[in-house]
Amino acid sequence: MVRVVIVGATGRMGRTLVGCARQMQGVVISGAVDRPDNPSIGRDVGELAGVGAIGVPVSGDLSLALAAGAEVVVDFSDPASAAGNLAACAGAQVAVLVGTTGLPADIEAHATRAAARIPVMIASNTSLGVTLLTALVRECARLLPEDFDIEIVEAHHRHKKDAPSGTALTLGRAAAEGRGAAFEQAAVMGRTGLAPRRSGDIGFAVVRGGDIVGEHDVIFAGTAEKLTLSHQATDRAVFARGALQAARWLAGRPAGRYGMSDFISIRTGA
Ligand code: NAD
Repeated sequence: MVRVVIVGATGRMGRTLVGCARQMQGVVISGAVDRPDNPSIGRDVGELAGVGAIGVPVSGDLSLALAAGAEVVVDFSDPASAAGNLAACAGAQVAVLVGTTGLPADIEAHATRAAARIPVMIASNTSLGVTLLTALVRECARLLPEDFDIEIVEAHHRHKKDAPSGTALTLGRAAAEGRGAAFEQAAVMGRTGLAPRRSGDIGFAVVRGGDIVGEHDVIFAGTAEKLTLSHQATDRAVFARGALQAARWLAGRPAGRYGMSDFISIRTGA
């Protein structure tokens, strides 16, 4: 059994992770962490997740959960806490999967530093389908002529904070890689007013509303034909199951950086 600590344990993803872990072989929730001022501190995380008590109270202190024999941390919490969580995991020699999105630009430096000591995975989307979609987008961008314009449309629930989604940005980076283009120069984050399309742009459009779990369309629009690669998540359990499976795998790896494609061994050809 791999002992997993969930950070962000009382949130939407945290509760889904706890529920999924109950049904999965080879993982056990050994710790549950949330903000120290969270009103659910001290309550059993299984009860909060609706699966009945599992004997794990929500704690406000990651270091205590790490010290209690954790083997991997699964962090779906807040972008501002990711760097500190990486450092704490590195200090405790515990592997970490960060699923939080909207991470600050300097997270790469923190992740690289931690990865010298522990296995680190930063995954903006932990579903099998989006991992495969990312590989397909890279390949389509590589194969299609450059007059196929690339546009990415994503939709999420009304509570989502970051935009465009981390997944949309990952898909955009994959498209830019396939084209051999610099993502930062190609990316156009929404258009308004007079905003004609430049050749080579990768455009992003964002929809927020209701309880949409997560939808991503990557459009390759050519002349007289259009190819759309599309993924829809209808239940956040797909992210939770993928994250727990990847975390179980990550716990046994040597120190270093890993991605979801390493876990499911997709050969992208890139
Ligand atoms: P949420 O707001 O429902 O939950 C976040 C939880 O983190 C809350 O309980 C909050 O109290 C807690 N938190 C905030 N700061 C904290 C801190 N410093 N330490 C510990 N806990 C803290 O959000 P959510 O919908 O569960 O999403 C969480 C994150 O996961 C977001 O960044 C979201 O975009 C991302 N996400 C990623 C994937 C993926 O596949 N990688 C899928 C869904 C959501």
